[in-house]
Amino acid sequence: MSHLNKPVPAPDPDTKPFWDGCRKHELLIQECDACGRFHFPPAGRCPHCGATGSRWVKASGKGTVYSWIVVVHPVPKEVYAGEVPYVVALVDLEEGVRMATNIVGCDPHAVTANMPVEVSFQDVADDLTLPCFRPAKPSA
Ligand SMILES: [Zn+2]
Repeated sequence: MSHLNKPVPAPDPDTKPFWDGCRKHELLIQECDACGRFHFPPAGRCPHCGATGSRWVKASGKGTVYSWIVVVHPVPKEVYAGEVPYVVALVDLEEGVRMATNIVGCDPHAVTANMPVEVSFQDVADDLTLPCFRPAKPSA
């Protein structure tokens, strides 16, 4: 676990707190100081009211699958041949924001709409942790 030969996120001042949170296995989203609503992806301005002040809060990590695709053709082949099939999904968090991610921990073809999922952090490199989602454990 050191270097990845695939495209990786390039944190900027707006997104760095999010990626720092992932490294600590915390899923962070922004809460607007003015209207109190959550927003994601990271931005310097609230998409709901336009205010610039916000604070980072820890999300529950729980959500449901909004939409998804199963990738079966590795592009580029040299990089992804060993990873297909895999799932690219949009997950709606309990907090009301939508996140592009991967679904892991189940048969890619078993993913369904509205499937309950929970965050699962993948330490893919020394300095990079990706937030993926896996099927939620049934609540007791
Ligand atoms: Zn706002």
